[in-house]
Amino acid sequence: MSGGATTTDAWDFELELRSDPAGAEARTAVLDKPGFGQAFTDHMVVASWSADRGWHDQKVTAFAPLKVSPAAAVLHYAQEIFEGLKAYRHEDGSVWAFRPERNAARFTRSAQRLALPPVPEQDFIGALRALVTVDEVWVPPTGTGETSLYLRPYMIATEAALSVRPANEVLFGVIASPAGAYFETGPKPVSIWLTTSSIRATPGGTGAAKCGGNYAASLAAMAEAVANGCDQVAFVDAVEHRWLEEIGSMNLFFVQADGTVVTPELSGSILAGVTRSSVLDLARDLGHQVEERRVSADEWRDGVRSGKITEVFASGTAAVITPIGRVAWADGDLVIGDHTVDHGVGPVTATLRKTLLDLQYGRVPDTHGWLTRL
Ligand code: PMP
Repeated sequence: MSGGATTTDAWDFELELRSDPAGAEARTAVLDKPGFGQAFTDHMVVASWSADRGWHDQKVTAFAPLKVSPAAAVLHYAQEIFEGLKAYRHEDGSVWAFRPERNAARFTRSAQRLALPPVPEQDFIGALRALVTVDEVWVPPTGTGETSLYLRPYMIATEAALSVRPANEVLFGVIASPAGAYFETGPKPVSIWLTTSSIRATPGGTGAAKCGGNYAASLAAMAEAVANGCDQVAFVDAVEHRWLEEIGSMNLFFVQADGTVVTPELSGSILAGVTRSSVLDLARDLGHQVEERRVSADEWRDGVRSGKITEVFASGTAAVITPIGRVAWADGDLVIGDHTVDHGVGPVTATLRKTLLDLQYGRVPDTHGWLTRL
């Protein structure tokens, strides 16, 4: 811990295991067709924080509704943050997280931005491990495609107080949900609605934090995308309305004809994706030139038209790497890539996707030291 804080002992989780966990049949039904974020494991982690006592009452307990006051600050002022990462089953049965220290560090940065107390990073990982250990049977087996156990740490202001100030009572929790392959029949290019009328995040705002408010603010634009026949929405910057930022929950990448891999630089209003950072490293490993810089919406459109941009994809924990096959905006649209070859998934996109998945599922040596056993 920095800032002169005293070192505290690692969190100890009291185990309040349920006497009525899901039976093997019910669990298998979920693991056979997990979907995303719909079914949850038997247990959850909770820990309480108060300004006078600090963190206390850390437990693994039955997954159940939380009891919070209708006056809880989170319900009124959205003092809330969260994270998202996955636990992967390897061939030998062991279960691993991918760069969880990155999620822990981002959680700390998000907490600072939302005036919430930090969770010591080793205890953040300890909480993941405590839950996965208890609910290990919910981590999908290998050999079932790109399945995993999605882990959702979060923190909410629970103090019942309507004055606008940082809450003095907070809850940290982790829930877990078996996740199926994002693309059940192999990656398929998605279409992106490029909005210049709706802004996700502003300079000095909360765009670089993973807080619920950012997502609430993106939903109307998401609905606009769907109304325009697109799967997802891409946002531009708040000042000039021309520099590409990111997709609703993914970072954006462009592959040029010369093999250069380009992604918008971290502007302060973009979320620093763990996948984004890993893709940059893997692209370098594979011999690509890599650029983090400003990319305008016009560069995207002009590049696709001229053939300078050959592939576009998005990166994020949920879908790993998602090919983008079409971009549409208020008065036009463009098809990206050759959809008659490999279902429209470009070769660089496909190679990066496979390289990352092979690492996450332990199919190749972890030369970067990115895996942590849970
Ligand atoms: N941008 C936003 C806004 C996101 O919500 C996410 C998902 N966490 C990402 C990018 C991708 O981040 P990561 O690779 O860490 O999942």
